[in-house]
Order: sequence, then structure tokens, then C-alpha cells
Amino acid sequence: MIDGHFFNFNKLDYVKKKKSGCILCSLIDKTTDSPDLEIYRSLLSAVSMNLYPYNSGHIMIYPLRHIESICDLSEEEEASDIHRLSAASVRILTDELSPTGFNIGYNIGENSGASIKHLHLHIVPRYNNELGFAEVIAGKRVVVVEPVSLLDSLRVKYAQL
Ligand SMILES: [Zn+2]
Repeated sequence: MIDGHFFNFNKLDYVKKKKSGCILCSLIDKTTDSPDLEIYRSLLSAVSMNLYPYNSGHIMIYPLRHIESICDLSEEEEASDIHRLSAASVRILTDELSPTGFNIGYNIGENSGASIKHLHLHIVPRYNNELGFAEVIAGKRVVVVEPVSLLDSLRVKYAQL
């Protein structure tokens, strides 16, 4: 029988493992001059507007820990936390923007379109008359700059989680 405490570890040490030169780590640490687009932060993960949104409401969810593959997510904690935030994001973005659909996915490794190695889950609301998901998440276009009012509004809604 596996000891229930086997999967527990010191969370403070856990979240401190950051990688220098990583834009997401520097956003997490607030050591960047980039605008603060963070919407919400849990114990293990953060939700942020995408740095380069391809659609209105395009957000990212990422572990606070610097890892580069879903294979490295801890299932008991990080994976379930990211799933919880994904579901909440679909609910909140639907309420806020009334999209007609969503694409949700990771880009992992070379040739995937990933421009940032730090694992991050894209959540892209979809609206009528658009390009395909591959074009969207592979960075083939930049469509919108998010209004500050949307960021503020989302922060209020996520704060209720
Ligand atoms: Zn990182």
C-alpha cells in the first residue's frame, strides 16, 4: 500500500525551481518589464492572457514550476490543478465573450510551433469565420490586442474561484 504522504513534498521548494532566461518564469517571479497579464494564480499554476493573443480571450495556463513536457506534470497535483483551471476558464470565457467554440492544447518540442519552452496550455476561444487552430497556435497571425478592460473583468471573475 502506498503511503498517502508519498506524493507530498515541500511546496515552497517545489515552486521555487525557476529557470533563468525563461519568459514565463520571469513573469511568475515578476522580474520582467513585460506588462503583467496574469489573471489568476493558484498554489501550483497561473492563468495569463497570452503575450501575443491570436484571438480575443486567448489565455495560457502554466505550472509555476519550470517543466517542458506534460510527462513531467505531477498527476496528483499539477495536472489536476491545470484541468480544474481549464474547465473554469471555459466557463468564465464563455460567460465573458460568448465564443462559439474553443481549442485547447499544448505545443511541445521542436516543430510544434512552441515559442516558449515552459509548458503552457493554450485556451483559444473561437468565433465564426476564422482560420484553423494550427494557424492560430503556431503563431501565423496576430489578430488582436486585448483591451485592459477584458483583463480587469477576467481577474474579477477568476478571483471568485
Ligand atoms: Zn520557465
